[in-house]
Amino acid sequence: QRNQRPSRRRQEIHHQDMYGGGGRYSSHRSRRKMKGKKASKVVLTTPAAHKRVVRVDQTMSVGELGKVMGVKAADLIRKLMELGVMATITQQLDFATIELIAPEFNFEAKNVAFDESELLSGPAVETTEVEEDPNAQLRAPVVTIMGHVDHGKTTLLDRIRAANVAEGEAGGITQHIGAYKVTTESGPVVFLDTPGHAAFSAMRARGASVTDLIVLVVAADDGVMPQTIESINHAKAANVPMIVAVNKCDKVGVNTDRIRQELSGHEVIPEEWGGDTMFVNISALRGDGVDELLENLALQAEVLDLKASAKKPAYGRVVEARVDKGRGPVVTVLVQEGTLKKGDYMLVGQNYGRVRLMTDHLGKAIKEAGPSTPIELAGLNGVPAAGEEFYLVKNERDAKRIVSNRETKAREATKPASILPTDPWNTTIKKYQNIIIKADVSGSLEAIKASIEALSTEEVEVKVISSGIGQITESDITLAQASEATVLAFNVSGDSKAKRAAEKAEITLTKHSIIYELLDYVKDLMSGLLEPEIIEERLGKVQVRQVFHIQRIGSIAGSFVLDGKVVRNAHARVVRDGDQVYEGKIVTLKRFKDDVREVSSGYECGIAIEGYRDVQEGDMLEVIEYKEIRRRIDDEARL
Ligand code: GDP
Ligand code: MG
Repeated sequence: QRNQRPSRRRQEIHHQDMYGGGGRYSSHRSRRKMKGKKASKVVLTTPAAHKRVVRVDQTMSVGELGKVMGVKAADLIRKLMELGVMATITQQLDFATIELIAPEFNFEAKNVAFDESELLSGPAVETTEVEEDPNAQLRAPVVTIMGHVDHGKTTLLDRIRAANVAEGEAGGITQHIGAYKVTTESGPVVFLDTPGHAAFSAMRARGASVTDLIVLVVAADDGVMPQTIESINHAKAANVPMIVAVNKCDKVGVNTDRIRQELSGHEVIPEEWGGDTMFVNISALRGDGVDELLENLALQAEVLDLKASAKKPAYGRVVEARVDKGRGPVVTVLVQEGTLKKGDYMLVGQNYGRVRLMTDHLGKAIKEAGPSTPIELAGLNGVPAAGEEFYLVKNERDAKRIVSNRETKAREATKPASILPTDPWNTTIKKYQNIIIKADVSGSLEAIKASIEALSTEEVEVKVISSGIGQITESDITLAQASEATVLAFNVSGDSKAKRAAEKAEITLTKHSIIYELLDYVKDLMSGLLEPEIIEERLGKVQVRQVFHIQRIGSIAGSFVLDGKVVRNAHARVVRDGDQVYEGKIVTLKRFKDDVREVSSGYECGIAIEGYRDVQEGDMLEVIEYKEIRRRIDDEARL
């Protein structure tokens, strides 16, 4: 089977290349640093008389390329050598190399590597997009209401909707569509009406940022409760500004200052106390303060300067989805950019279809929807998950191509990744280890938190993104998933829901009862993030005694191994008069006519160094090998 993943052997070659000792000198390095490790696919085209084309998807082996061009592999290898590329018949060539070699045989190389962004349209695809879109206009903010159960979220949403949906239309609200747009005196506002925090969390778990603002509802008669804290953690982790609505202020004897105090203890400090969070006292039941809350939302939105262009192909996110008996999959989406039109062809995750029915939040059929508009639509071939992005595509054919490509990718992602070494010249990038911790008592929690955070090093920072007293709950797991965090339990365990969620999301949840063991565990996690150390091991020394310039093959250094050994695929440093003049990989190692893997001291051999033709008699070759050493965070501390 030709169309398979590259062989192990190629990965090894690649592996060595990436160490790239010779890279600094070798012009082939960038070319050989193959972009994809994907399987190659060959598409044969009928060769026209004048222009013959080789279509390359990612890579192609020397053998395949020869076959496609009708050239003997040996001829191809010889040509490649002339260009300084030592290749075997099974070696995969990247597009750049093929592009270079093909004209030698009167072929033109065409890159047909699949790039789904070419078929998708939407702002998220245009990564290089400049910020100043001339068509961008202010758009409505998207608000999510969060807070502890029974603190009045639903009541508040109902109140806002009832008061702000245009007269006569109010009765039209027949079904819940998960999101709706209201018109306030300060402009339109979109509310995501999600049961609890589930959808918000689900979206965050997908890295979606749909919400511009969060309203945190806290009942004045109940105060800060677990889900209040959870909401704060979500808002902080997602970096979404928050407005606090202190609810149920109509109740007798409530103390709204106490709520402000409690929240200040969680770093949510009211503006009037010098902090940066707006607080509004309301009664969702009676409607007091709700207009003020809306006004403040509009104000905050203005500060955020939220803009979007309607003159683009639509792009947005799924809010929720269900299957309707008559209509099939029915999806509530929020259009974030562009304008979605009835009849558009849409791709969502691995589902697609033509938008057949489009209704607004009142159930009224509409033909198009611009930025910050929640709508319900039918026409997809399946039910996408909340938080998934939608894009427009031209037609079903493109949609299918993308879906099948995504499926392939998803399959490949489950295979073990090849071990690619890190570039030794790559300067270290700060890594993060996020931690969520629950403990039985606050004394130990504080101590553990401080000790964990003290473990941070220059390379790996440990962040406790959420902590609390009590059992691990399902929402801890959701937050962990969204923030790629590890969940630690100290003298507590997880409830059954949490355990199930953790299993499903493949989140590690570990229990500890000894602090230093817990800290060791965190160190292990951090160590796993450290870039390995690359060390070089000296293998031997070789003297070049005679150089053979074999026409069409290159320079072979007839050498003598002075000490140690020389190994194929190791690196050789060419030293001339005491100076290093080149470093490159030993691609050919011969004993007489035979290719060998290694030659020991006291023997003669023939050596070819990748990309190097100027080897001279009298040169010394230092043979070295690069090795990867895993590091431990403890070792770092000692440095
Ligand atoms: P949710 O779980 O956060 O959605 O809370 P609900 O909106 O379902 O409200 C829970 C309970 O609190 C209901 O019985 C509401 O009537 C009541 N409630 C909500 N807002 C207020 C309010 O402003 N004042 C009073 N007195 N009760 C309220
Ligand atoms: Mg509710």
